[in-house]
Amino acid sequence: MLSTILSELKPSGTRLVAVSKTKPTESIMALYEEGQRIFGENRVQEIVPKHDTLPKDIEWHFIGRLQINKVKYIAPFIRCIHSVESLRLLEEIEKQAGKNDRVIDCLLQFHICDEATKIGMTIEEADLLLQSAALQAMGHVRIAGIMGMATFTDDVVQIRQEFKNLKGIFERLKNRYFQDSSTFREISMGMSGDYQIAIEEGSTLVRIGTLLFGKR
Ligand SMILES: *Cc1c(COP(=O)(O)O)cnc(C)c1O
Repeated sequence: MLSTILSELKPSGTRLVAVSKTKPTESIMALYEEGQRIFGENRVQEIVPKHDTLPKDIEWHFIGRLQINKVKYIAPFIRCIHSVESLRLLEEIEKQAGKNDRVIDCLLQFHICDEATKIGMTIEEADLLLQSAALQAMGHVRIAGIMGMATFTDDVVQIRQEFKNLKGIFERLKNRYFQDSSTFREISMGMSGDYQIAIEEGSTLVRIGTLLFGKR
């Protein structure tokens, strides 16, 4: 399965985040041995022990809701946090990254679907965050792009439209705030059920779990 997905990602240069949540370290090692290096998890209490025991050249991405008081546990090693949805959270990441003398890539998560349960910011909230003096003063977080989740539906027209909306948000923010910066470049969108649409709509990072590891 890995090689099939990788060949689909290749033409666009989209990278794969293998979402290993709930899966044992043996399953991660099996993919690692096939060459996969980026893994994604959504719970702090799960990613920390996995990081501790697995090879150190794994690039760990955090993809779930992140509580402010838990940032300190992942700050020593996390490469990218896909789920930044407030200035308060970003400030804590900045503080903890600073303590570890690191820079952490952060993606702003947008609410693009029609499910109220999924997290994410509005454009207005993102504008406030990106214009804030607090952000300008930060040296240990890098706003590397944006993330979003489409509605869980069979309606491919709707899914495609939601991905188009996310891409539109990316372009708008790029023009407004990051015109001269090459660090703002990631659009994290696409999961097992919709990653092919996401690639067509400009995804740079797909987050795939079930297709690689089986049902959870
Ligand atoms: C679980 C999860 C995924 C992977 O979902 P699959 O459908 O198993 O591929 C992707 N993104 C987020 C944010 C997740 O929580």
